[in-house]
Amino acid sequence: MHLSHIGINKLCFLVSLALCAFLLLLIPTLQAPPRQGDRLPPPPRPHTKPASAAGRLPSGGSARSNKTTVAHRVTLDESQQTRKESAGAEIRSLKGDAGAAAAAAAAQRRYSGSRSRDPLEPKDIFIAIKTTKKYHKTRLELLFQTWVSRAKEQTFIFTDGEDKELRKKPGLNMINTNCSAAHTRQALCCKMSVEYDKFIESQKKWFCHVDDDNYVILPSLLRLLASYSHTQDVYLGRPSLDHPIEAAERVKSDGSVSVKFWFATGGAGFCISRGLALKMSPWASLGNFITTAEKIRLPDDCTIGYIIEALLEVSMTHTHLFHSHLENLQRLPSNTVLDQVTLSYGGFENRRNVVSVGGIFSLAEDPSRFKTIHCLLYPETEWCPKKSRP
Ligand code: UDP
Ligand code: MN
Repeated sequence: MHLSHIGINKLCFLVSLALCAFLLLLIPTLQAPPRQGDRLPPPPRPHTKPASAAGRLPSGGSARSNKTTVAHRVTLDESQQTRKESAGAEIRSLKGDAGAAAAAAAAQRRYSGSRSRDPLEPKDIFIAIKTTKKYHKTRLELLFQTWVSRAKEQTFIFTDGEDKELRKKPGLNMINTNCSAAHTRQALCCKMSVEYDKFIESQKKWFCHVDDDNYVILPSLLRLLASYSHTQDVYLGRPSLDHPIEAAERVKSDGSVSVKFWFATGGAGFCISRGLALKMSPWASLGNFITTAEKIRLPDDCTIGYIIEALLEVSMTHTHLFHSHLENLQRLPSNTVLDQVTLSYGGFENRRNVVSVGGIFSLAEDPSRFKTIHCLLYPETEWCPKKSRP
């Protein structure tokens, strides 16, 4: 009896030991699983938040300006190592800017992130050219002869008058908006409204708008857009001012409130992802763009900025790869000209404002420099001088 009591005690002790050992084995499996954030890095954000320095709307006419800033900008176009280096160079030029480190980090993230995406093809881009009947011969012809000839399928001409000769050009997409041919806010917003609707209809991934005095460097545009996702909210362009514009937004019962936002200058061109364009629909589609523009009484490019930045609260991505003739184009280093996304020209008569690219054609033969740029990009073109070919 006494012995069996001791035996039971021993047995109990051994059972408790076994239980403890079992519990010890269970500890790792009972621990909480790692959080999602521990496993996956956050997706890179495609745009930076601009600062909110105050600014006033320039009075009257176009809101475009040649004053721009290098602050709050991320360098774009990082799909190749050379691009990465040029990004580094641009970011280094921001020395002293508090946002430079963040900009560099964001550019780097996008660079590494862009490799896994689906390749973007030229046919995925919708390029809208805004023009007017009086410029069909003087400006459009030069574009047909040069960059448009390489992008006929994705380029759409938005004009305000019929032109039988233009219609006859094979493969050309010409849209007569029936908007007024005047250079007024209403007429320009009318054209932008049609551009927007046609883009939505097209099912393409990117909407890019340019003027009829822009040269689009297609390989650069493709590289730039390929480093973003068209399903995210992306608004790319050159800020027209060095501060956000401040406008009076009309509200009900004839009151108004002040709004501040950045916008991309239309004269340098800008691009919008399909994802973002779809979100703009309530204020941009089927004539709503004109109503929206009336609410702030600003030109077409400002209205785009208003919808995106002020109404949708999506920040514009500032890039200096887009150029209008409102900046001093001579300042663009010659060896970087072909890396830009858009170029322009202006002021032939008084003060010539064109990019400086030498050789191939003289200033008399090619006052805009577009032909020279085209032959540098596509030396095999039949009208390019043989000596420019490799
Ligand atoms: N434009 C237009 N209607 C006009 C005058 C100009 O649609 O009555 C277009 C023109 O074709 C160009 C853009 O508006 O694409 C800007 O015109 P421009 O280059 O003459 O002016 P700026 O660049 O000085 O604003
Ligand atoms: Mn212009």
